[in-house]
Amino acid sequence: MNTVVDTALIQALDREHFLHPFTDFKDLATRGARVITKAENIYVWDSEGHKILDAMSGLWCVNVGYGREELASAAYRQMMTLPYYNSFFQTTNVPAVQLAAKLAALAPEVGGRRFKHVFYSSSGSESNDSNVRMVRRYWDLLGQPQRKVIISRHNAYHGSTMAGASLGGMSGMHAQGDLPIPNITHIKQPYFYELGQPGETCAEFGLRAARWLEEKIIETGPDKVAAFIAEPVQGAGGVIIPPDSYWPEIQRIVDKYGILLISDEVICAFGRLGYWFAYEKFGYRPDLITFAKGVTSGYIPLGGVMVGDRVAKVLIEQGGEFNHGYTYSGHPVACAVALANLDLMEKENLPGRVRDDIGPYLARRFTELGEHPLVGLAETCGFMAGLVLVRNKATQEAFKPELGVGMLCRGHCFRLGLIMRAVGDRMIIAPPLVMTHEQIDEMIALIRRCLDATLADLQAAGHL
Ligand code: PMP
Repeated sequence: MNTVVDTALIQALDREHFLHPFTDFKDLATRGARVITKAENIYVWDSEGHKILDAMSGLWCVNVGYGREELASAAYRQMMTLPYYNSFFQTTNVPAVQLAAKLAALAPEVGGRRFKHVFYSSSGSESNDSNVRMVRRYWDLLGQPQRKVIISRHNAYHGSTMAGASLGGMSGMHAQGDLPIPNITHIKQPYFYELGQPGETCAEFGLRAARWLEEKIIETGPDKVAAFIAEPVQGAGGVIIPPDSYWPEIQRIVDKYGILLISDEVICAFGRLGYWFAYEKFGYRPDLITFAKGVTSGYIPLGGVMVGDRVAKVLIEQGGEFNHGYTYSGHPVACAVALANLDLMEKENLPGRVRDDIGPYLARRFTELGEHPLVGLAETCGFMAGLVLVRNKATQEAFKPELGVGMLCRGHCFRLGLIMRAVGDRMIIAPPLVMTHEQIDEMIALIRRCLDATLADLQAAGHL
């Protein structure tokens, strides 16, 4: 396919007509957007011909890498057979049914809880809106309509719709549009590096952080709390990896108060942490699981909620009509692509590869970056990783936020052919799960060059 484009023309049209997500429109107009024209395996190319190693899998989604013929053919075949039909009005379609059964088979039973049912959407945000509707419906049906409050965490990301942004704990998002909506409240995140106290072990901190949930439940009134929602590892918040002691204590607390547990696995499912679903890794028992992104490796929009027995039983047996759904719930083409994607992941054993091979190798190579003079901490979990840029390694002194050191580093990454994301001064990656050891080495070498270039800039400007 011809991917040669007139960069200036595309940028002009972009400036004129396209309002980008999470973007300062005026600022982008002065710079011009980078135009990405093609992709293959773990690399993308821009319209100027630069080859860039995509260490973010697009937006945490291209798990099987770019250019996979199998997914394109599945979409083509399904479009020619049945490009669309709704699943309202007592109709269904073959790929939607097959995918629901497949997902149910991939989600292991835990503590007697099975995930036999799927509710479809087209994104993570919509799926979390569905969670809010479903959780409230559940408690209404059980005769406890006062159970409305959903507890989430600061710095969480659960999407950008009104409910998604409210569940999320991003203060910048709450500041726009009068959010959160009522009956959503937040506790602090389990970030040991920032919130651990002197002398406290990581395990002790994990227990203390989990108990913030119990304190919030008691403060709210246990009979008013409907659910707790959390990402297994916080992604957009900066790859915040909880201590091992955190999730078991969360499980004890939600069990004690009988509240529902929602595991938002939009990033963490489908091999990212070395398992089909992340609750397997941490050993907790969710009632609802949000998924999106990796289910189709981002080739086409699809999301949904895996509904555990506890909720499904009530919705199905006592529910009557659930007045909720989307035009694209169970979209046949999206579901056909998801089936092809999961098939590929199974054939290539991507979750197992992350768990036993490339995950441990990334852990070894990435943590070596901790030796760099700018790096205060470098840690990984499965195939996600984050490092913290600090002014002083010994004291962990941070840079002044106004210096924008993370963004400076990100700029060097782009320039040197690497996509890495900056969350404040935390630099994060979540590469495609098809990466080879050699490509991990290539990525680590690039990261090192970016860190060196950032260090040189800071030294030249007298900030170190
Ligand atoms: N939940 C989590 C954990 C996410 O990371 C995201 C997206 N980054 C979402 C929900 C929202 O998904 P979407 O952008 O597809 O609406």
